[in-house]
Amino acid sequence: MSGMLTNSDGLSPMITELVETGRDFHRRGWSLATSSNYSVVLNHEPLRLLLTASGFDKGRLNPSQFVVVDRDGILAEPSPHKASAETMLHVVLGRSAGAGAILHTHSVWGTLLSEAYVSQGSLRIAGYEMLKAFSGITTHETAVTIDVFPNSQDIASLAQRVESRLKDRTAPLRHGFLISGHGLYTWGRDLPEARRHVEAFEFLFEILGRKL
Ligand SMILES: [Zn+2]
Repeated sequence: MSGMLTNSDGLSPMITELVETGRDFHRRGWSLATSSNYSVVLNHEPLRLLLTASGFDKGRLNPSQFVVVDRDGILAEPSPHKASAETMLHVVLGRSAGAGAILHTHSVWGTLLSEAYVSQGSLRIAGYEMLKAFSGITTHETAVTIDVFPNSQDIASLAQRVESRLKDRTAPLRHGFLISGHGLYTWGRDLPEARRHVEAFEFLFEILGRKL
């Protein structure tokens, strides 16, 4: 492995899993071109996040195309690469959602639905067996509400909105959210759980999209 993360040998298995995730998501049409970004929390206190670097094709990531950032989204280890412009969204999910892994994808169905529901601010999914794929859900007789945020180049203020929704005591943001015309953010306690959430969301988005 080249690049700067060489003295962090413990990272190799996680990088391998993230490279494989990119290959899989690219093949399934959820992470085309240089879209998407993926991260794994290496440490919560202080926060250290292993994150895909900006601008690389997610279907053909190589192990040098990752960076490590801190709780302010600043590079915590020297790197020739830049962190993604969307780093702060990963950081707030690592900080305030208890996430161990965060996956951001740009699928066709997610994008279509996000545009259809942005004026309502959220999208409700109810009654599907697939809802049981989300952590903490044990029956299909339930509903999940997915926030839909307007797209913005002002990631700092979007991240602030997301973080305050995560801390909302009455109806906190759970499982994931959409950004209109853009894509999905979801997370899990670890990478396998986050991947399961992406798959479940994509299945449900396609069902809802086809029904519309
Ligand atoms: Zn994005």
